[in-house]
Amino acid sequence: MERHRNKHKMGIFGRRRSRGSTPKTSPQTSYRQLDAAPPKGSPQAPTIQGADAAPPPKGSPITQVTPGAACRICLSDEGELITPCACRGDSAHVHVACLARWARSVEPRVDAWRRCGVCLTTYSGAGAVALAEEFLGRSLMKESRYVPAARHALGAALLNCGDARAAATLERALREKRSYGEDGAAVAAVLNDLGIASGEEERFREALEIYASRSMLESKDAACARLNLGNALCRRGRYREAKHEYERALSVLTQMHPGNDADVAKALGNLGVVADYDSRLDEAVAYHKRALAMQRAVFGRDAISSDVANSHDNLGVALGHRGEYVEAERHLEACVEMRRTLPSQERMVVRALAKLNEVRARRARACPQAPQRAPAASRVAETPGVVLPYIPTF
Ligand SMILES: [Zn+2]
Ligand SMILES: [Zn+2]
Repeated sequence: MERHRNKHKMGIFGRRRSRGSTPKTSPQTSYRQLDAAPPKGSPQAPTIQGADAAPPPKGSPITQVTPGAACRICLSDEGELITPCACRGDSAHVHVACLARWARSVEPRVDAWRRCGVCLTTYSGAGAVALAEEFLGRSLMKESRYVPAARHALGAALLNCGDARAAATLERALREKRSYGEDGAAVAAVLNDLGIASGEEERFREALEIYASRSMLESKDAACARLNLGNALCRRGRYREAKHEYERALSVLTQMHPGNDADVAKALGNLGVVADYDSRLDEAVAYHKRALAMQRAVFGRDAISSDVANSHDNLGVALGHRGEYVEAERHLEACVEMRRTLPSQERMVVRALAKLNEVRARRARACPQAPQRAPAASRVAETPGVVLPYIPTF
């Protein structure tokens, strides 16, 4: 324990445990189609997500809009355009109102309120919150059975933005789902998100109990809950227990996806993080390299996603801890670059910049003769740690 305490005295680049802040999520990948009426007790698709996304600073635009950009639906360039999903190029920008109109036109396809029909990523950022609010408003007005699902969608969108209202919203979604007589995987999915919002490890355990009672412990949803439980344990310094949960999750995910897979990569990344926290640096670097290679195989070599950004981030940190500053810098630079083009990552950019500056400072101290680079612009005073990918389910 003493060892852990000492670690927290390390500088900005030192690993630290969470200060109890809300773990956040960012947009990412796999999402099974949510049917209009999922059979009771059927697993709701987990959205394996990347790391801590953060809300844009107040008053800032939702995202940087490229000059000449136009809405992919109405083709107009008037009004505020957002980039809520992974679509890029001509399809990158859209109006929230246009997405809402589309979602209304395909009702009762509830997934249209929550994810892009083209790239299939979950909407993120303020646009996702606005859509979920409208979805909830419509569901309440029609007293439809989608109220709990809509409330969950809103809670998940708020969580994604790092909005403090997420926990209360998810709590209410949980009550609503239960009052509708649900007690299966749909409830477990809310518990999982609530665990992320509240940081309470017990929520993940409750979710896992539900999966166990339904013989679903070998499912992807359960594996995700386990990864999140591992993160909660990791944040409390219970590295051995965390590692155990990550390994169990990895084993389930590897059985489901024997080849390269985004979720397996995420589990590898989590194992890398706990190894780093636990000062097993060689292991940490190896895990992060494997995760990055796997993500490149899955998303493509030049893919820009929060998963890949997380891997660069974590690999850069682990390499920095190992004293390999040049390579660490390269990965942290790639991370910063990537996060700058992703929605809702403003705070993550700031954190990555702080890590990059710390690596540069350490390199300068370790090798004073080396040419110095100007510090990257950063506004942070807080101490960034390693990125723990939380895995929301939906
Ligand atoms: Zn439009
Ligand atoms: Zn898209």
